[in-house]
Amino acid sequence: MSTAETQTPAPAWRLLLGYVRPHRWALLAGAVLSLVTGATGLLLPLVARELIDDLAHDRAVTGALAAMSGLVIANAAMGALGAYVLQRTAESVVLGARRALSSYLLRLRVRAVDRSEPGDLMARITSDTTLLREVTTDSLVGLGTGGLTLVATVVMMGLVDPVLLGVTLAVILAAGTVLGLIVPRINRASRRAQDAVGVMGAALERTLGALRTVKASGAEHREERALHEAAEESWRQSVRAAKWSAAAGNTAGLAMQIAFITVLAVGGARVATGAVDVGTLVAFLLYVFYLMAPIQQVVGAITQYQTGSAALARIQEALRLPAEPPARPAPLPPAGAEPASVAFRDVRFRYADDLPYVHHGVTFTVPARGMTAFVGPSGAGKTTVFSLIERFYDPESGEITLDGRGLGDWELSRLRAAIGYVEQDAPVLSGSLRDNLLLGNPGADDAALAHVLKTTRLDGLVARLPQGLDTLVGHRGTKLSGGERQRVAIARALLRRPRLLLLDEATSQLDAVNEAALRDTVADVARTTTVLVVAHRLSTVTMADRIVVMDAGRVRAVGTHRELVAADPLYAELAATQFLAAAD
Ligand code: ADP
Ligand code: MG
Repeated sequence: MSTAETQTPAPAWRLLLGYVRPHRWALLAGAVLSLVTGATGLLLPLVARELIDDLAHDRAVTGALAAMSGLVIANAAMGALGAYVLQRTAESVVLGARRALSSYLLRLRVRAVDRSEPGDLMARITSDTTLLREVTTDSLVGLGTGGLTLVATVVMMGLVDPVLLGVTLAVILAAGTVLGLIVPRINRASRRAQDAVGVMGAALERTLGALRTVKASGAEHREERALHEAAEESWRQSVRAAKWSAAAGNTAGLAMQIAFITVLAVGGARVATGAVDVGTLVAFLLYVFYLMAPIQQVVGAITQYQTGSAALARIQEALRLPAEPPARPAPLPPAGAEPASVAFRDVRFRYADDLPYVHHGVTFTVPARGMTAFVGPSGAGKTTVFSLIERFYDPESGEITLDGRGLGDWELSRLRAAIGYVEQDAPVLSGSLRDNLLLGNPGADDAALAHVLKTTRLDGLVARLPQGLDTLVGHRGTKLSGGERQRVAIARALLRRPRLLLLDEATSQLDAVNEAALRDTVADVARTTTVLVVAHRLSTVTMADRIVVMDAGRVRAVGTHRELVAADPLYAELAATQFLAAAD
């Protein structure tokens, strides 16, 4: 995500205002309630004086007592309401940011995800957004109320004695310069602290994802060290930020003491020369004293904002990652829709500018209907062909067409609605088995579901499971075997009635009996649909209508099994060794 840092980012506060805007009236109400609560608190001494006066003159105190209790209760109630409204608003700001980020992350281009750490992206949604809570309450409200009080006090000081105000402002300006040096350090340390949280999230995600291998390899200590190091780095940087925040707060406090002393000295001299009277000096000194609270509040708001703006910058970076247009609900092809044709023309592609080319001018044509097998050594670029058809990535040059139309001319949701895709290592999502099957077509009816369960030989599994289709297949489908997962993925793709079916080593983990059955199912589907398969089993490859032999990012040959065995030495070798090794 370092590339984002080189761009000139829009200021973080603008992003914050975007999240705050929908709640501005609630925020204002909360701030006003807090201000009024503070102001009514100031009335208390007046009522107390009344009460003492009544006592001194032997008058009934019921009136003053009632007023006092009323004031105290109203004060507490408004204070509570104000605090509640502010906190609630701040939580709504966090919610808004989390919603925006979650929606955006789902739209990210696969390329952007390839180059990011999922754990770090997660930390940006979960942890960085949390920091917006304090920014909203402490920074925005603090800056608003503190700033208002500050301006009002300064105006009053100017009315009392402009010269002494000049002296005070000079001291404040000097302190402001020092603060200007400290504040960026808070920001930098906060940024590093939150980056470290991201690193920790990424490390955790990797470790938990590979927990079995970590345990089996006895590598717990190594992983532990990496996790602790990230946690310690966050601690170090947070401590550094705390140090500078403390320095900032006390610089402001010190400045006010110095202002007090300077005003006393300069004011004393002015009293001596008769420029002002003692009453003026005393009044001014009182205002200097009053200035302390709002200045502390404003400086607190500014230092607090540094943490928040570091978080905002991290959120902003995530929101600048390349994304697809928002997915629109696209209708699935109707039953009996025409199968699709696919063509690659001189496609060149690499996963990133700093990585080698994976496709060096790939060309092939697949007519509508029938089965086409892609074969070739691993790393040849077969899976990449499917990724390009789904437009997870776009080629650098050359053209890919579906039904003769360039993929770029298809509305993305419509393109994907036409395709059923079983990826290599297709995952099972959390939820029930039924949720997993209906993922790509929630509207599929029971008859279609029953039919697909039968053709993918999942009916036996459903019968065995305690709650049948409603059994939770759970986190990452650990309760299903690899072969079962593959059959679920195929069933899921078939339920979409795709015009183009992409199967990437989709039956590699099936036993011989299930594999033979699925082969018949796929052959059946290929009569009405265009099917592309990446396969290693000779039995699957030989039944294909055509075979595309790929090697090192190029198409070597296209033909039937019989033609290729005679014409292509690589294919002949694959057929003789690799296929047979994997065949039943
Ligand atoms: P095949 O499916 O034929 O085994 P792939 O299409 O998966 O080959 O991969 C072709 C090449 O592209 C491989 O060298 C692989 O390392 C590389 N590759 C695949 N996916 C990515 C990715 N997401 N980012 C970078 N390189 C990748
Ligand atoms: Mg592959």
